[in-house]
Amino acid sequence: VHADPQAGQAVKAADRAHVFHSWSAQGLIDPLAVAGAEGSYFWDYDGNRYLDFSSQLVNTNIGHQHPKVVAAIQEQAGRLCTIAPGFAVDVRAEAARLVAERTPGDLDKIFFTNGGAEAVENAVRMARLHTGRPKVMSAYRSYHGATSTAINLTGDPRRWASDSAAAGVVHFWGPFLYRSSFHAETEAQECERALAHLEQTIAFEGPQTIAAIILETIVGTAGVLVPPPGYLAGVREICDKYGIVFILDEVMAGFGRTGTWFAADLFDVTPDLLTFAKGVNSGYVPLGGVAISAKIAADFETKPYPGGLTYSGHPLACASAVATINAMAEEGIVENAARIGEDVLGPGLRDLAERHPSVGEVRGMGVFWALDLVRNKETREPLVPYNAAGEANAPMAEFAAACKKRGLWPFVNMNRTHVVPACTIGEAEAKDGLAALDAALAVADAHCA
Ligand code: PLP
Repeated sequence: VHADPQAGQAVKAADRAHVFHSWSAQGLIDPLAVAGAEGSYFWDYDGNRYLDFSSQLVNTNIGHQHPKVVAAIQEQAGRLCTIAPGFAVDVRAEAARLVAERTPGDLDKIFFTNGGAEAVENAVRMARLHTGRPKVMSAYRSYHGATSTAINLTGDPRRWASDSAAAGVVHFWGPFLYRSSFHAETEAQECERALAHLEQTIAFEGPQTIAAIILETIVGTAGVLVPPPGYLAGVREICDKYGIVFILDEVMAGFGRTGTWFAADLFDVTPDLLTFAKGVNSGYVPLGGVAISAKIAADFETKPYPGGLTYSGHPLACASAVATINAMAEEGIVENAARIGEDVLGPGLRDLAERHPSVGEVRGMGVFWALDLVRNKETREPLVPYNAAGEANAPMAEFAAACKKRGLWPFVNMNRTHVVPACTIGEAEAKDGLAALDAALAVADAHCA
């Protein structure tokens, strides 16, 4: 890695002059200036290289700068950079075919968006039009994006500033045995009680007022919460019983992260709508979309769909999706994610949990893991309180800094660190990352009682 600290300072100064950053107090941030990236790594201008255990925002499933995807974007740019959504274009049709071939069941029509939140917005719009009902239900402990409906559906503190009764959102508790809302002691109890709670919430809201239930197949940002066996099938049944549209949000879980193309494959469940983004093209060009079931697509056979975007199915984005999906299939990248999870990350993280008092629980599969950090394994008190900031969040901030000092870029959220590297990560790289985590966890351990 070539160091050029002066260039780094210049990039940072230029950034601070005019770039307004997401989710941040603009005067309090100090963004790292990034000089480049390749595979599982990115580097700064000071000669520091980081093993990317965050996949940025859990989106670079194919790693940074995959040569086939870069070449496909370059080739498409030379051919046709942009064209309105109303035209038929080869790369758009091919991207839709490749996605539709992989989505479960009869989800065979693809509406393209620029990202995850727009996918969620449009899925909800389709559900409301399909049912003629106003409300949408989503889980506490969820993230669905930052646009109007998507942020209202979100079940974390980022919603609070944008909360609007007009959004028509009703939240409920999903299953999460380690911190059970149902005083459950087994997965089976948690599943049964979570389903009963959902059905009761529906009864009290009025089933005829509910257009959709949206769930992340495996909850991502809020903690890599893998639903117990039977839960998603149970939600599917409840949706069918009350004529509610079932939306699975696979923006984070989809395209290889769980070691399968979609997390829904693991639970043998087919939603009516499935949202995707991130891993579909690893974010090389912004892209997301909604996969639509035959039943809902049929509504718009003779009646126009009242929604659209200037860049829906953008050729550069679609070309990168085609190249990404083909490369993932040709190179066995989804299988690699499964194997790394089973052989390296799973055993390695469970070993960390045994040796570190701060690791309360290990959850996940593939390249989709979370360590739930605690002050005390018996009481399960989180290492930092819910939504902690400043001094209260110091243990997590110190842990993150310790990771970075050891060349590991972590994904941290509240009292958790997620282990979400690229699906392409090699065994040696994964082991290097585990060793860095091992060292950094000593910092968290120091806060244990
Ligand atoms: N849905 C889920 C499950 C996500 O994880 C995210 C982003 O993290 C979104 C939706 C929003 O996607 P985007 O940031 O592309 O709008």
